[in-house]
Amino acid sequence: NDAQTRFRRVLLKISGEALMGDQGYGLHPPTVQRIAREVKSVHDLGVEICMVIGGGNIFRGLAGSAQGMERTTADYMGMLATVMNALAMQSSLEDLGVYTRVISAIPMDQVCEPYIRRRAVRHLEKKRVCIFAAGTGNPYFTTDTAATLRANEMSCEAIFKGTKVDGVYDKDPKKFPDARRYDRVTYNEVLTKNLGVMDASAIALARDNDLPIIVFSLDEPGGFKGILAGEGTFTTVH
Ligand code: UDP
Repeated sequence: NDAQTRFRRVLLKISGEALMGDQGYGLHPPTVQRIAREVKSVHDLGVEICMVIGGGNIFRGLAGSAQGMERTTADYMGMLATVMNALAMQSSLEDLGVYTRVISAIPMDQVCEPYIRRRAVRHLEKKRVCIFAAGTGNPYFTTDTAATLRANEMSCEAIFKGTKVDGVYDKDPKKFPDARRYDRVTYNEVLTKNLGVMDASAIALARDNDLPIIVFSLDEPGGFKGILAGEGTFTTVH
């Protein structure tokens, strides 16, 4: 396959749930391996890759606080969950021969690297996949906001948000057969129509820095590489 791409540096955002396969919870190693192969196929094109993985397959701060936990403590647990997911992805990528660094917003030196911006940029230049873990390091944020923050800091050309559906729809396509997919949609439309691409702070941060968000299906084999080459269906939020 001689797919080409105009992108040189991108950030791939996936939810924690993307790693749990058909299970209701946790990590499904074959699914992690499948996504690692998607990442490798893009890495093989010479694209510099950042990743942010959520933690919702293990723990969500809001769910904890709804059950009576103190919110910030619950959020720290959610951030720790993203570190586990990042380590699982690192393991799968390195199995495939792709060098990676897990870089945490909360220092835990025995486990992974602390976030030092210039060091992360250097890793990317050396073609190491950088997996940014522990979100922004702050409670009350999400990994979507972390993805937008890191994509800006790393000067990525776009965020690729891998989901279960092939773009942004006006309503849930899994529930409504007449749901309509947008080819392009503006940040403000996403906010005013509450289209649920990412949370509002992430969308606003992308808008204010003119960072495109490309929403695509990660369930399509070869999907990530195809989308980078401009093939297949997706929605551009810009
Ligand atoms: N989280 C946080 N600050 C951040 C990023 C994440 O407090 O900057 C916590 C928050 O509790 C969140 C959890 O980590 O619920 C997991 O992240 P997220 O819900 O974004 O994961 P996803 O839905 O993408 O799997």
